[in-house]
Amino acid sequence: MAKVIIIGSGPAGYTAAIYAARAGYEPVVIAGSVTAGGALINTTEVENFPGFPDGILGPELMERMAAQATKFGAQVEFDDATQVELAGPAKRVLTGLGQEFVAPVVIIATGSAAKGLDLEAEKRLGGRGVSYCATCDGFFFRGKQIMVVGGGDSAMEEAVFLTKFASKVTVVHRRGELRASRIMAERALGHPGIEFAWHSVISDIHGDTAVTGVTLTDTRTGETRQQATDAVFVAIGHTPRSELFKDQLELDPAGYIVVHGPPAPRAGSNYFTATSLPGVFACGDVVDHTYRQAITAAGSGARAAIDAHNYLTELEAEAALAVATV
Ligand code: NAP
Repeated sequence: MAKVIIIGSGPAGYTAAIYAARAGYEPVVIAGSVTAGGALINTTEVENFPGFPDGILGPELMERMAAQATKFGAQVEFDDATQVELAGPAKRVLTGLGQEFVAPVVIIATGSAAKGLDLEAEKRLGGRGVSYCATCDGFFFRGKQIMVVGGGDSAMEEAVFLTKFASKVTVVHRRGELRASRIMAERALGHPGIEFAWHSVISDIHGDTAVTGVTLTDTRTGETRQQATDAVFVAIGHTPRSELFKDQLELDPAGYIVVHGPPAPRAGSNYFTATSLPGVFACGDVVDHTYRQAITAAGSGARAAIDAHNYLTELEAEAALAVATV
């Protein structure tokens, strides 16, 4: 029995843990067995997290957050939440290692997962030249040709990073204009090791046991062409990790957990991070269509923990009143 269970260990989860721990709740953090630390574990230099003017490596930032949470009494479990029962006053979370945690409050901070291209070839060649993580797999393609799919900040970051290894990096983007922020776009556009295949999508990936090339389709004309490559890094965004909660919580059509605010809490709730069930709060990328930054996730984790504290205080006041009136 705990007071607060936090599912997820990215910036949102660990920030919620720091706040809940400092409030004296000794939260249990279900951090994940292979994904502990969240998406920042697979990133390189984080340059826009306030407080680090020289940047900080993603994994180091997450280690620091974890250390800060445990210092104040959070219990971190490197285990996966596999089943949840969120209705009712006692919420249950079951894990892959067979543990069971029960608490009046659950904070969900499960983040999001990398999107794929929906190609059959991704299954065959995943881990054999098709990758979703440049920092994890870039090293294997030293001196090789690499394609990066996407036009956002992730794709630009991965493309620049991969120039450290590749003989040539080609960014494949479906439009003629990047979505990435100006600084990231300029860095990639001005890089001598990066070429762009504009108005193009990868419609097939070739190779049996290793990637040998791709079919590119022009998004304006439908024309196809073949291009040799040794690797395809997919960086086209993420989908929320809300599968575990879909039968119990309200999700929006894209699968994000619906929370009550901002800009204003919905009628019947004072809590911005409240989900459709009392005592269940959600924060970070699993609720956020728009901002999806480490710092905004951390900020929403703080909100969730403060909401959880106010909710628990209300529960205690109600229980005290019930005792006083008996
Ligand atoms: P994103 O901004 O949603 O960009 C996804 C890109 O992939 C877009 O260019 C999109 O094309 C393209 N795309 C989507 N689905 C596709 C498909 N099926 N086939 C081909 N292309 C497809 O995602 P993100 O780059 O992962 O960034 C997510 C958030 O994290 C953003 O807020 C970003 O600023 C942030 N981020 C920041 C940093 C940093 O500052 N260091 C680094 C990484 C991410 P369209 O443009 O045509 O829609």
